[in-house]
Order: sequence, then structure tokens, then C-alpha cells
Amino acid sequence: MIDPSIPRYRFWSDDTGGKEACPQCGHALVKEQQTYVMVVRQGSRIEPFVVGGKAGFFCPECPTVVLDREVFEEFARIGMKNNRPGQFTILGLLDLSAIPPERRHQPLGGDGNPMPLVKFIDDPKGGPRPERKGKTSSMKPGEKKKKRK
Ligand SMILES: [Zn+2]
Repeated sequence: MIDPSIPRYRFWSDDTGGKEACPQCGHALVKEQQTYVMVVRQGSRIEPFVVGGKAGFFCPECPTVVLDREVFEEFARIGMKNNRPGQFTILGLLDLSAIPPERRHQPLGGDGNPMPLVKFIDDPKGGPRPERKGKTSSMKPGEKKKKRK
């Protein structure tokens, strides 16, 4: 299991060229069920959703997640109840284990029960770099890269 409480660099599957290898360190990614907070915008309609599913590919070696854009488009369509995904952004992961057991039946985000949102590291250029074991790469996070062979 990956730890959802760790802030991660976020990449999109169609930007990084795949869901197999970590775009930052090259390690094989692991597909895991996690819970996300996403915001969908269609014109003036903006709605937040909590979505759960196997929509992310996590690196076990560095704080990186590759999000499956097709799955999130589907979440957006289901959430908005029409056939357009609109524009959407993923705010981060929910660390459900951070919710005290006595509050788990209460609505998330309600009084005294804040959402345990773990935001992504959203500025790959200015933020801290993940530690790498062994060789370093000259690839900057967020840069488009060619498919790794
Ligand atoms: Zn990695």
C-alpha cells in the first residue's frame, strides 16, 4: 500500500507517455485504489467531487503519481450527469486513515470533520526535488518526455 498522506508530484498519463514507468525515476508504477478530490467546471458551473477508484499509478520509490486522464474524465461525466467532462482539476488525495473512527459516519468537510486533503506538489519547478537513489536524471519534473524504452 502506498501512503496517501505523502504529498506527491502529479503527472497525467497522456503527458508522460504511459502508466508503466515513473516519469521521475523510471521505477515501475503501481496501480492503487485511492480517494481523490476533484473540481469540475462546465461554463459557470463548478462542482467539487470526492471520487474513489483505481485512477492513479503510484511510484513506490519517489513521491510521484501518474493520473489516468480517461478515468478522471469518466468521473467528471458521472459527477456532472452529462456527457461532457468539461474542465477539471484534481486537488489531491484524501487520507481517509486520518479521519478519527468516531467521525467516519459524519459528512466529510462538515463541522469539526475537515477533509484530510493531501495536496499535490503543484509547482514542480520551484518545489523540492524528490530524493533519488543512485543515478540522477537531468529530466525536470513537468517536462514532456519521450517514451522510455
Ligand atoms: Zn519514481
